[in-house]
Amino acid sequence: MKAYQVTEFSKPLEATELDKPEPTGTEVLIRVDKAGVCHSDLHIQDGYYALDGDTKLDLNERGINLPRTMGHELYGEVVAAGPDADAPIGEYRLIYPWIGCRECSTCLAGFENICAAPQSIGVFNDGAYADYCIIPDSKYLIEIGDLDPVVATPYSCSGLTVYSALSKALPVSSDEWLVIMGSGGLGLNAVAIARARGVDNVVSVDIDEKKLAAAKDMGATAVLNSGNADALAQLQEITGGGPRAVVDTVGAEVTASLGIGSLLKGGRYVIVGLFGGGITLGLPTLPLRAISVLGSYTGNLTELKELIELAKSGKVKPLPVATRPMAEVSDTLDELRSGKIVGRVVMSNS
Ligand SMILES: [Zn+2]
Ligand SMILES: [Zn+2]
Repeated sequence: MKAYQVTEFSKPLEATELDKPEPTGTEVLIRVDKAGVCHSDLHIQDGYYALDGDTKLDLNERGINLPRTMGHELYGEVVAAGPDADAPIGEYRLIYPWIGCRECSTCLAGFENICAAPQSIGVFNDGAYADYCIIPDSKYLIEIGDLDPVVATPYSCSGLTVYSALSKALPVSSDEWLVIMGSGGLGLNAVAIARARGVDNVVSVDIDEKKLAAAKDMGATAVLNSGNADALAQLQEITGGGPRAVVDTVGAEVTASLGIGSLLKGGRYVIVGLFGGGITLGLPTLPLRAISVLGSYTGNLTELKELIELAKSGKVKPLPVATRPMAEVSDTLDELRSGKIVGRVVMSNS
């Protein structure tokens, strides 16, 4: 089978020929139909996350070994299964990729996405930028009904990530505001899902007017260009004194400062973006303003099923998604890195 792999960090993906994997035990073999391209792939390709200052979180030390086939947003046909699997052969499914060790108390409680020994598809195990992909158990296969697979594929990462972050950020009442930092793939899905979950007042913040226009299309009630010198004052004005909650899909110094700085007393700042950097926070501001600063990483299997049900109800406005042939995945990652992509790109084998 063909696979597009990271063979060296910070280098383009390499097209390689591999043996088609054989499922054993409870494993299921998926013929990849759609594979979403995600911003976090860029970090895996680079081999690090940027922490505070020049400090880097090395992914090799975190257990990501090369060569690695990335691609964690995956939709495809179930084509084979191990002897212990109960799999719907011949049917198409969306895959939950944030698999853990499946043995620890965190996993058994249903929070595999925050297991200390992650086995995520396309990160710690080979993923979807290939003809075929192995999934360890059929319980990670999700039926999407009449949803467009191109729209549903990114729900397993960008959609799920913001769905779970919103669960931590809500409730936001009808006279309060929610701020979404960033209007990339995550930020646009965040607007659509927040609106579907009944949030009336959503401000999208970005530095790119084109992306802000896309956020308005997705249902943002107001937009703010954070490149403006008085962005904080403007955000306070739009939200009538500050938002109840902020979901930061960027995770940069400027978005964190603006987000945390603008919150109402008792407000919640939830960060999912991995841009990098650090901020200094006066500790007394936390108790005095009674604010919460929360990190959120992807989401669990139950949350993905909830999101798919919400999408099936027709309430979630679909994100603009472009499809391209799988062979263009390396070039697509380069384009994503340059910030030129509005919405989401899904690679296709069909
Ligand atoms: Zn992702
Ligand atoms: Zn575990």
